[in-house]
Amino acid sequence: MKPNYKKILDEITPYKPGKPIEEVKREFALKRVIKLASNENALPPSSAVLKAIAKAAENISRYPDGGCFYLREALSEKLSLPEDNIIFGNGSDEIIVLALRAFIEPDSEVILSSPTFLVYKIASKVEGARVKEIPMNNFRYDLESMLKEITDKTKVIFIANPDNPTGTYVTDKELKRFIERVGEHVLVVIDEAYYEFAKGGDYPQTLELLKRKERNILITRTFSKAYGLAGLRIGYGLASKDIIAVLNKVREPFNVNSIAQAAAIAALGDEKYLKDSVSLVLEEKEKFYNAFESLDVEYLKTKANFILVNTKRDSVKIFESLLEEGIIVREMAAWGLKGFIRVNIGLPEENKMFLQAFTEAIK
Ligand code: PMP
Repeated sequence: MKPNYKKILDEITPYKPGKPIEEVKREFALKRVIKLASNENALPPSSAVLKAIAKAAENISRYPDGGCFYLREALSEKLSLPEDNIIFGNGSDEIIVLALRAFIEPDSEVILSSPTFLVYKIASKVEGARVKEIPMNNFRYDLESMLKEITDKTKVIFIANPDNPTGTYVTDKELKRFIERVGEHVLVVIDEAYYEFAKGGDYPQTLELLKRKERNILITRTFSKAYGLAGLRIGYGLASKDIIAVLNKVREPFNVNSIAQAAAIAALGDEKYLKDSVSLVLEEKEKFYNAFESLDVEYLKTKANFILVNTKRDSVKIFESLLEEGIIVREMAAWGLKGFIRVNIGLPEENKMFLQAFTEAIK
C-alpha cells in the first residue's frame, strides 16, 4: 500500500515561477539574458545590504533570532507601529500561508478575485478551503460581487493591492467601504507586495486602519521588490496583536534566516536605494506606455513595477521569440489570459532591448 497524500493535491498544479536566467542561457546558448518576468528589482543590491550580509555571514553556525528582535525594532520605529503588531516571514508568501494555516477549517471558504496572485488559490486549497473566484470587472476588483459571496463559512478574503498580474488597484475609499461591510468574522488579507511603488494619491493608507484598531485586516508587505532582496526571502505581516499572536502559533521557530534579517535592517536604513528603485520604475514605465501606444497592443496602466499587455496575437509565439533574443517575460496562459504577457520594468537599457525585440516579435 502507498502512503496516502491529501486528495486535494490531485487538483493542484504547482506554482510555476518565471524562467531562471541561467536556464535560458543554457537552452539557447546565449551569453546575455535579461529577465523581466518575476517583478524583481532591476537595480543591483544596495552596498549597505551587501556589507550587512558579509558581517551576518560570520555567525551562520548559530540559529537565527526566531523573534527577529533587531529587525522588529527597526520596522516598528519606521512604521510607528507597536512591535507586537508585526510578524516576519520567509517572503510575504509565507505570511499568506501562515494566515491560511491559522484560519482555515475543513468547511471554510476563501474569496479571491480573478486574475490574481496564484499562491492564494494554491495555498487555500492545500489547507482544504473551498475557493470562490470572482472575475474582475474591466481588470479591476469587483468588490460588490465579492461581498455578495460572503457566507458564515467565509474565513479569508484576499485583495492584492495593486493586483498581480493586472497592476490595477483598489482606492482608499473603495477599500474602507469594503472593510466596513465585510463583517468581523472574515480576515481581509491586503497584499501590498508593491506598496512602495504604489503609495500616494488615492492608494489606501491601510496602516492607518490598523492604528485605528481595525481588527479583521492583515497587511502583507515584502523586502523582495522595492528593497531588492527577493533572493533572501523576507517579508512581513501587520495586524492586530491578537492576529499576530495566532499567526505566531503556526509559524516555524526559525522561519527567517539570519542573513535575511541583517539585510532587511540595512535595507530599511538605505533610503536612497529605495528612492532610486521607485524613481526608476516611475520614470521607465512612461516609456513602456508610449511604446505600447504606438503599437497595435493594449496595456493596463500600472501601480506596480510590471505591466500587463494584451498582445492581441499568439502570446506563446511572442514569448518564445523574445526568449530566443535572450529576454524572459511572463506568458499569461496559466492565469487564463490568452494573448497576454506580463513584463516588469528593468534597467533603461533592458527596457529598450525589450521594446525593440517586442516590436519585432509582434510584426
Ligand atoms: N504578493 C504578490 C501580489 C506578489 O506578486 C508576490 C511576488 N511575486 C508576492 C506576494 C510574494 O512575494 P515575496 O514572497 O517575495 O515577499
